Amino acid sequence: MEITSTALSNMFTQIADAMVREKDRLCELDGVIGDADHGIAMDLGFSAAAKAVQALDLAVAEPTLVFNTAAKSFLNAVGASSGPLYATAFMRAGAAVKGKPVLDDGDFAQAFIAMARGIQERGKAEIGEKTMIDAWLPAADACEAALSTGRTLSECLSAALTVAELGAEATKAMLASKGRASRLGDRVLGHMDPGAASAVVLIEAMGKALV
Ligand code: ADP
Ligand code: MG
Repeated sequence: MEITSTALSNMFTQIADAMVREKDRLCELDGVIGDADHGIAMDLGFSAAAKAVQALDLAVAEPTLVFNTAAKSFLNAVGASSGPLYATAFMRAGAAVKGKPVLDDGDFAQAFIAMARGIQERGKAEIGEKTMIDAWLPAADACEAALSTGRTLSECLSAALTVAELGAEATKAMLASKGRASRLGDRVLGHMDPGAASAVVLIEAMGKALV
């Protein structure tokens, strides 16, 4: 499929809408093992990103500018640790599609994979540390595997969503060694990481927007 800057702008709007719907649940999850602001952070970040992207002249703005604009506004809007993580993710997505006037399935899949790698490089979390990385890394791997066997973007993102959900579920059994939750020791056991939960929301919204 052909993904234009307008399609990307619509995608950011749909992500922002999804975060509004999930805001309370994400804050509740963060209330158990963090400071209860994760839903607010994701809502603020994505509504700022969507608004900034909508304000671009989408007939001339290339996809890389859309991602870079989202990155900058997300960073400015979010003081929590998810701010720089997602800002880095969208900067990397922008760099992955540099110079392309429209994206094909493979281009968007590469941008998606670049997001996960950017989050990992910025936050230095590994699998098993009870962070959004437990959803993002398997999602990127599944996307890459699906892409390499010739799947469509929609199939790649649906494979990514399935394993992101499993990864988020798996964080319940993990101790935290990154972020605020790392101070709570085994009190975090049995609770899902909010950042992994919001990664699932984001990946699902991306998949729904790009069909
Ligand atoms: P804060 O912890 O500053 O309040 P948020 O509540 O917005 O920030 O986000 C918390 C989430 O950020 C955690 O649930 C976790 O998934 C993620 N996180 C925290 N530190 C890292 C890190 N170093 N790498 C990846 N993700 C992280
Ligand atoms: Mg928080």
